[in-house]
Amino acid sequence: MDIAFTPEQLAFRDEVRAFIAARLPAATRARLRQGHLPNKEETVAWQRILAERGWSAPHWPREYGGAALGQAERLILLDELYRAPAPLPQIFNMNMLGPVLMKFGTPAQRDFFLPKLASLELWFCQGFSEPGAGSDLASLRTSARREGEFYIVNGQKTWTSTAQWADWMFALVRTNPEARKQEGISFLLIDLKTPGITVRPIRSIDGTDHVNEVFLEDVKVPAAHLVGEENKGWDCAKFLLANERTGIANVGLCQERLQLARELAGVDVLAADAALRRELAVLDAEIRALELTNYRFLLTPSQQAALPAFASVLKLKGTEIQQELHALLARLAGADGLEQPVSAEEGPHLVQRYLFSRALSIYGGTSEIQKDILARTILA
Ligand SMILES: Cc1cc2nc3c(=O)[nH]c(=O)nc-3n(C[C@H](O)[C@H](O)[C@H](O)COP(=O)(O)OP(=O)(O)OC[C@H]3O[C@@H](n4cnc5c(N)ncnc54)[C@H](O)[C@@H]3O)c2cc1C
Repeated sequence: MDIAFTPEQLAFRDEVRAFIAARLPAATRARLRQGHLPNKEETVAWQRILAERGWSAPHWPREYGGAALGQAERLILLDELYRAPAPLPQIFNMNMLGPVLMKFGTPAQRDFFLPKLASLELWFCQGFSEPGAGSDLASLRTSARREGEFYIVNGQKTWTSTAQWADWMFALVRTNPEARKQEGISFLLIDLKTPGITVRPIRSIDGTDHVNEVFLEDVKVPAAHLVGEENKGWDCAKFLLANERTGIANVGLCQERLQLARELAGVDVLAADAALRRELAVLDAEIRALELTNYRFLLTPSQQAALPAFASVLKLKGTEIQQELHALLARLAGADGLEQPVSAEEGPHLVQRYLFSRALSIYGGTSEIQKDILARTILA
């Protein structure tokens, strides 16, 4: 069963496909197919090309440089980018901070930051997790003490993706240690060039330095960079996390990886290997079910309201399928896949991507936490 797109939506999909075919740099496409995550230069260059159509900020209102796409068109665009494969619009700027500033930011913050987020003149990273605060995020301890027109920030963030490339970080900090956990937290924008900040890379199992520790020692942050009210940062965080549902299932990426698996296996091997054919067919069926569930949930506001925990199904199932696909691709790459790549930036990366894919069931809310949410929903 296929999704019943309207003729307008099908025309939009064709338009997106044609644009990507004409404009996506071949080198970027080749690196992504080999299993690399897009690097900063690729993301910036591609986001600026997308911006020519307003597609770098697909769901943002036009007044902020977005394309004001509806949910269906946004999903179509996202899936086509994954299928290309092409870099997505930078997630921290476009999906996380942008919408938070539109809802909670001051006019001055919106005027200053939103255009720079859209153009990637400023690259933001997300400073939420800490050594003692991941799943239980509200236990965070990084403190911000108000002194005149500044906050003095002390503490440590960890697992901060792309902090090595970032200009700024949006962070949750504790402004009232006396209050109940969720009620003493604020949302701050921190310029990473401010004295007292150290970014230290964490080498991960795939040999890249994608994640970092960020240490903050007596860092002076102007009070004007507080988003929303002091001690109400948890509202911003909840809004940010709830907002992040559209890309959660990564359907287009699953389809692209499955197609690559078929190509890597090759017609002769597929013809001879019934077990492999079955494995591919099961994955195909699972991805189709994921796609239907994704569209049904995201295009039906009544379902979202009635079943908010459905996002947990998408995250859980989507990451399980991706992990299976990355494992299959590493296997199909065979001995070639075990070759050390020329560098973390070049060469085949399917085994490394498989290793990195272990993190999929950790970030964005671990699988255990998703199962917890689902269990509570079912029992409620
Ligand atoms: C590659 C990668 C990139 C990341 N990028 C960022 C980023 O850019 N910014 C950022 O702020 N954070 C980032 N994170 C951090 C991520 O959000 C946390 O790792 C995640 O929330 C889990 O927290 P934790 O690591 O502290 O593990 P913990 O919360 O300590 O969990 C440890 C284990 O216990 C289980 N567990 C915990 N609580 C429960 C419970 N109540 N019930 C059942 N089981 C439970 C977990 O499922 C897990 O298996 C990233 C992490 C990774 C791996």
